[in-house]
Amino acid sequence: MSYEESYLYRLRHSAAHLLAQAVQELYPGVKLAIGPPIENGFYYDMELPEPLREEELAKIEKRMKELAKLDQRIERTEVSRENARNLILDQSIPGMGQAVADYKLQLLDAVPEGDAISFYDQKRTGYDGVEHRFIDLCRGPHVDSTKEIKNFKLMSIAGAYWRGDVKNKQLTRIYGTAFETPEELEQHLVMLEEAKKRDHRVLGKELGLFMFSPVVGTGLALWLPKGATLRNTMVEFLQKEQLKRGYEPVVTPNIASIKLYEKSGHIINYRDKMFPFMEDLNSEGEVSDTFILKPMNCPFHIEIYKSQMRSYRDLPVRYAEFGTVYRYEQSGEVAGILRARGFTQDDAHLFVTPDQLQDEFIGVVEVIQAVLEKLGLTNFRVRVGTKDPGSDKYIGHDDNWQLATDAILNACKKLNMDYEVSPGDAAFYGPKLDIIIKDALGRDWQMGTVQVDYNLPERFELEYIGEDSKPHRPVMIHRAPFGSLERMIGLLTEQYAGAFPLWLAPTQVAMLPIADRHVRYAQEIAAALQGHPSHGYTPEGEVSWSPIQAKSENRFRVFVDASRETLGKKIRENQRSKVPYMLICGDNDIENGTVGVRHREQGDLGAMKIEDLFAKLDSEV
Ligand SMILES: [Zn+2]
Ligand SMILES: [Zn+2]
Repeated sequence: MSYEESYLYRLRHSAAHLLAQAVQELYPGVKLAIGPPIENGFYYDMELPEPLREEELAKIEKRMKELAKLDQRIERTEVSRENARNLILDQSIPGMGQAVADYKLQLLDAVPEGDAISFYDQKRTGYDGVEHRFIDLCRGPHVDSTKEIKNFKLMSIAGAYWRGDVKNKQLTRIYGTAFETPEELEQHLVMLEEAKKRDHRVLGKELGLFMFSPVVGTGLALWLPKGATLRNTMVEFLQKEQLKRGYEPVVTPNIASIKLYEKSGHIINYRDKMFPFMEDLNSEGEVSDTFILKPMNCPFHIEIYKSQMRSYRDLPVRYAEFGTVYRYEQSGEVAGILRARGFTQDDAHLFVTPDQLQDEFIGVVEVIQAVLEKLGLTNFRVRVGTKDPGSDKYIGHDDNWQLATDAILNACKKLNMDYEVSPGDAAFYGPKLDIIIKDALGRDWQMGTVQVDYNLPERFELEYIGEDSKPHRPVMIHRAPFGSLERMIGLLTEQYAGAFPLWLAPTQVAMLPIADRHVRYAQEIAAALQGHPSHGYTPEGEVSWSPIQAKSENRFRVFVDASRETLGKKIRENQRSKVPYMLICGDNDIENGTVGVRHREQGDLGAMKIEDLFAKLDSEV
């Protein structure tokens, strides 16, 4: 059953009506607009005589609780268009009448001719014997009585333009949430609290990963040393995976002539996501060429493919690029690095023969699986977007579509991945596979995607010479396992609450010498962890201990905290920076060739021989 058909959906919709009823009582003269259920709750938009303060939500919520308990029956009535109009304008009903009817009348006009027009009526007989009611133009459906609405909470106030149009009046939107059981409500509120703590924008700042600056521009992140280190680690990891699987790196520019995007069709289909164009003027002041900031990498890779005659023996060709693209997101939609205006895709395009499609698709999905496993994102599902059989918006031959869809489904089966098929979710140019990751808080994130494309090879007239010595058209696969580096780092930051796994942590090990006389020893261990040779000498040239023999197979990212702070303070600070391992060095350690090992989550692990420590660290990355 879909959410829209569920009891929960009706419950939330009814909670929205209850909210409107309470507001109408407490703020006479309010003009109600619309109040639908949404994912995780509901809202109601309204025009209030006075601006509403956050503190007033408690009062509204209290009134809602009282109204809910009165066991008001919620009844549907269908009326003619004329009667609907009369009802909305009927001043004898509380909350109705010309003065507050603006939005409801517009909503009534928007009901298509021939559709049923219905109202939902909440009625009760008061102690005074008088009938009270709240009536609202609404398609429904609702629960039977307000007493079913028990576990709800008002969350926040926001501004919202009527019909989502900035040219219209700004209304007050009150958000709330409702659940069937108190436990579910509680769980949701705890999750929100936790999500707030994990907000990647907050943690990104605290951990020194990235920043934004108003003079740089909205949605354009500046990556700080630790964030850039994190990015590089991810890039190196994926590059290695791709090299193993026959991908070749390419690098393409950030701008291109408009001609490229005219050919690709982006100019028509993607115009509203592109930054303003750059016009090159000649000496007469006429536009001689127009340049476009790159919104997608595909056409560049296609040009590279086209630069040579290709034979079936050359295929598949797999071009990979960490390609930075720019998309002109509305400023209201920009959200930290999750939805930025400039971001780097871990993009690749594969040019394959129809026969190769199946195997190549499997290869692509294997890369994605390897990536997600390494990142610890093992809770994900796969959605295969296929053609809507009833629609004619798709390009390409039916048998090609069948082939591509089979290739995707077979790949999922061969790799033992659970998947759901979503008819109508294909792109117009081919079927696709989306990865939807469930994070530690149970939230869904749509991340990597793989798309089969018949359109661009057609538009660019791509060819290869087949075994029959005749020209054939290759199929393209677009894929990005992370989606983008920015989005994936945003997700990982929230998933791990900033405590990245050892292999990914920007600083993996912090050396904490207790006193100045332990600094040199700490530096020697740091050097060994970084892969440099150890001498066992002080800067003055005296031998102070035997050289550190242990060798690490890896080159760890180590920070030596040589400040004069107390050990306690050093520990607290590195704990706050979420450094996985802290290694404490004191007199006994120098004597015994040990360090005091402290783990970010496990706490004090005691003294450990340096060779044992190195083996332990090597085994964990
Ligand atoms: Zn409604
Ligand atoms: Zn592409």
